[in-house]
Amino acid sequence: MNIVVCIKQVPDTTEVRLDPKTNTLIREGVPSIINPDDLSGLEVALRIKDKDPENVKVYALSMGPNQAEYALREALAMGADEAILVSDRAFGGADTWATSCTITAAIEHIDYDLVIAGRQAIDGDTAQVGPQIARHLNIPAISYAEDVDVEGDKVIVKRQFEDRYHILEAEMPILITTLAECAQPRYMTIRGIYEAQEKDITVWGLKDIEDKLDLSNIGLKGSPTRVKKSFPKEGKAAGVLLNDLSADEAAQAILAKLKEKYII
Ligand SMILES: Cc1cc2nc3c(=O)[nH]c(=O)nc-3n(C[C@H](O)[C@H](O)[C@H](O)COP(=O)(O)OP(=O)(O)OC[C@H]3O[C@@H](n4cnc5c(N)ncnc54)[C@H](O)[C@@H]3O)c2cc1C
Repeated sequence: MNIVVCIKQVPDTTEVRLDPKTNTLIREGVPSIINPDDLSGLEVALRIKDKDPENVKVYALSMGPNQAEYALREALAMGADEAILVSDRAFGGADTWATSCTITAAIEHIDYDLVIAGRQAIDGDTAQVGPQIARHLNIPAISYAEDVDVEGDKVIVKRQFEDRYHILEAEMPILITTLAECAQPRYMTIRGIYEAQEKDITVWGLKDIEDKLDLSNIGLKGSPTRVKKSFPKEGKAAGVLLNDLSADEAAQAILAKLKEKYII
């Protein structure tokens, strides 16, 4: 059984700050990490492999610039068997449509049973790429997985909704998108890190996957959407401090403010 895990390298958004003068993101010194939902997806795949190491192969696949190789080496150090970097200038500036078309073309070169993507990337935040890949591959998708189990050629998924869960069962091939809380990712081992440095990462450029691609669907030119402008949200107004009020007066003052702002 072959599992392909889609991994996106993202800036650690908990560390991104705004320059108050230019209102732009300060990217310098911001570390790149594997997107948290994808790390959990990789852990799901590795647990399936742990149960049947002889027969399960885990591929980590990322589309991005050369530096995405670091994310793939981390995946190898955790236990992935193979790493594939899909990288070519022609793929740059892709929106979710062009990204999913390109990743799909790469997956079509692998004999897959199960495809796992994260629910959402913390930088782009769209949660579109996984379901789009499933559509292009013409396989079913189960998103928002909070628990995944495999029995024979079936997957059993606990899918999260706002107010409930569904337990879904489906036959492979299928695509699942995982939530970060689906599986606590394991640490890399020292031996894993050492071996990951020695392993080759397969790099596929346009030439390697163009047989499965419609060239009008790649990169900036093949993207139906364009980010025209990006800017930070305006800061909220400073709060007001009311001193020396009795408890009743304080409650009345809060009530009046909430009514004034149409909150209640
Ligand atoms: C120069 C540039 C220009 C861009 N222009 C646009 C634009 O015009 N319009 C627009 O909408 N977006 C644009 N983007 C953003 C880009 O489209 C998104 O980052 C990308 O499409 C993925 O969407 P997302 O981050 O929302 O992923 P999500 O859909 O939130 O990701 C879900 C899951 O899909 C998988 N996945 C997503 N991306 C990758 C990847 N690269 N490799 C492997 N797995 C992946 C991961 O498993 C991830 O958890 C631009 C990006 C760049 C760098």
